[in-house]
Amino acid sequence: MPQRLSTYLKNTYGEKVYRLSLSSGCSCPNREGGQKGCTFCSEGGSGEFAAGFGDILESIEYAKQVICKKTDAKKFIAYFQSYTNTYGDVERLSKLYHEAISPDEIVALSIGTRPDCVGADVVEMLKELNAKKPVWVELGLQTIHEETASRVNRGYELGVFEDAYKRLKEAGLTVIVHVILGLPGESIEDMLDTVRYLADLSPTLDGIKLQNLQILKGTKMYEEYMDDSYRDDFHIMSMEEYTDLVAECVALLPKETVVHRMTGDGPRKLLVAPLWSTDKKRVINMLNKKVKID
Ligand code: SF4
Repeated sequence: MPQRLSTYLKNTYGEKVYRLSLSSGCSCPNREGGQKGCTFCSEGGSGEFAAGFGDILESIEYAKQVICKKTDAKKFIAYFQSYTNTYGDVERLSKLYHEAISPDEIVALSIGTRPDCVGADVVEMLKELNAKKPVWVELGLQTIHEETASRVNRGYELGVFEDAYKRLKEAGLTVIVHVILGLPGESIEDMLDTVRYLADLSPTLDGIKLQNLQILKGTKMYEEYMDDSYRDDFHIMSMEEYTDLVAECVALLPKETVVHRMTGDGPRKLLVAPLWSTDKKRVINMLNKKVKID
């Protein structure tokens, strides 16, 4: 049975480990030069909670203080989620990430990016960092289906993911893949096929983030959702349907794949549907009842 992230962290580090959401100052190639980005992506670049970009050690200190006010946290992951955190000058990024992992209490580095932004120089940089502290590379795949990928303007094909995955794993990095359940036009079988594909990857996938599609104000997907001519393509799952599906997805995964997330956490103020996902406690309770996971 797969493990949830909290279990994995406790077993690995002997205590609870907290994420510090930080900003690398990178943008995203899919939102530049006339590109409008993935249709579900909001202005914040799929990570609305990061501390502002500035001196990284100051940002870490600030983010730590926020967490330490409410907990007795001692270990942290430097987490760069928003936009594409390997898109930029590699020398600058290398300096930034080396600084970010320099405090003793930072036990790992987590970097969200796109498979088309991990060239040989980036992999080399990540490998160097990984020799110092574990580096997790998070790839936003969302779906294996080309038709859906092109419809949501993901901006790369599955082959690009496969190539990046192979090179990252060969370099010894930990790879985590993001999947969105409920993308327009996809059936339950299509979504399960994406998870089956990931479950069969060789080498074995280190981690997965599952989340329900969230329609956010200001996105292209919001416009489509509000447009009657697209309405039939959207099936916004109920909480019951979604949690059943997550249980099925997790049951397909090998025990070595750590489940980092099972629900979406988009910005509440932008969320249009499904509104049940704002009630995180209820969603998590339901997931805990249905999903067989350590
Ligand atoms: S790759 Fe990420 S940041 Fe870029 S448009 Fe897509 S979801 Fe947004």
